[in-house]
Amino acid sequence: MSNPKIWLSSPHMGGTELSYIHEAFDSNWITPLGANITEFERDLENYLCNGVFVTALNSATAAIHLGLILLDVKAGDVVICQSMTFAASANPILYQGATPVFIDSELETWNLCPIALEAAIVDCIYKGQIPKAIITVHLYGVPYQIDEIRAIASKYNIPILEDSAEALGSSYKGQKCGTFGDISVISFNGNKIITTSGGGAIITSNHQLKKKAQFLASQSKDEAPHYQHSKLGYNYQMSNICAGIGRGQMKVLEEHIVLRRAMHDFYVSLFKNIPGITIFSTANPDYFTNYWLTSILVNPSETKNGITRETIRLTLLDSNIECRPLWKPMHLQPLYKNYPFYGNKIAETLFENGLSLPSGSNITDSDRDRISTVLLKLLS
Ligand SMILES: *Cc1c(COP(=O)(O)O)cnc(C)c1O
Repeated sequence: MSNPKIWLSSPHMGGTELSYIHEAFDSNWITPLGANITEFERDLENYLCNGVFVTALNSATAAIHLGLILLDVKAGDVVICQSMTFAASANPILYQGATPVFIDSELETWNLCPIALEAAIVDCIYKGQIPKAIITVHLYGVPYQIDEIRAIASKYNIPILEDSAEALGSSYKGQKCGTFGDISVISFNGNKIITTSGGGAIITSNHQLKKKAQFLASQSKDEAPHYQHSKLGYNYQMSNICAGIGRGQMKVLEEHIVLRRAMHDFYVSLFKNIPGITIFSTANPDYFTNYWLTSILVNPSETKNGITRETIRLTLLDSNIECRPLWKPMHLQPLYKNYPFYGNKIAETLFENGLSLPSGSNITDSDRDRISTVLLKLLS
């Protein structure tokens, strides 16, 4: 085909993944246990530093669920969550029978607005319920306002569950994302910066919490020769095959970050003289972002002929180039529309005017030529 699809973010194998899968086959560890898992966890611990403990799981959604359980979130509790995110950040709140309270974004990082966050906490406390946890997100790999959010969380003594699903490789003041929460999670889904096909990890600050996460993830089996259970368990472990892919992917993580950041630079120069398009970037030197996805905001009162986000989206799709509106905020989702929301219309406006563009580490020069031809023809 002359016009093959250009994906937003597709899996990018490094070349060594299959050798680890072969090791699993040769040793017959085709199981949710084995050397690939232990080694993958160790690679991640060495990468993230800060003395963290990593437990590989079968998804980041599972990791968030276990995180809420470890933070003792139960039915009837209140959990605060960034509204603008993927549904997987919030759904585990409902798995626990707890009530989500959604918070607007701020314009600098598109993440949790500290002012709306504090207003929500104060209001929850006034109504007699101290929130059990705050779910923070580094959207598109851009760290949230970590110092401000941490100060508020400490002031009210509420733990942070850091959803770093999109931010492996990003950092704030030199410290890696995925190490800022009381509990943190990362994702290895097929569209993330590295993948295990599907997978995730929960990151904890001590070994005892890791042991608890492993216990819950493997059906909460008590010490006994027979199958005995005192606690509700889950089947959330990562397979030793998937962990083999992860070990190979760890070898190319740094390279993927360089390539994703190069995609971001490509868009910066592409849109340099195009009116009405703003690229979501961080100029603050404290922030280092993996630019998992590069996203733009479209201002139709400034673009040529008043071109909108929708026109750009449909034109790209027409050329077989995948792109997506930003995450639709949770407080606008049919599933969540009856839950409390604190803030204004920042997330809503971002959602209406934002578009994520192809950002994969495997995008080629000729893909970039196609993308720039289509966009320049439309917008300049
Ligand atoms: C991908 C993603 C998740 C879920 O990760 P899975 O591994 O697919 O379960 C959670 N939160 C955010 C912000 C994500 O982008």
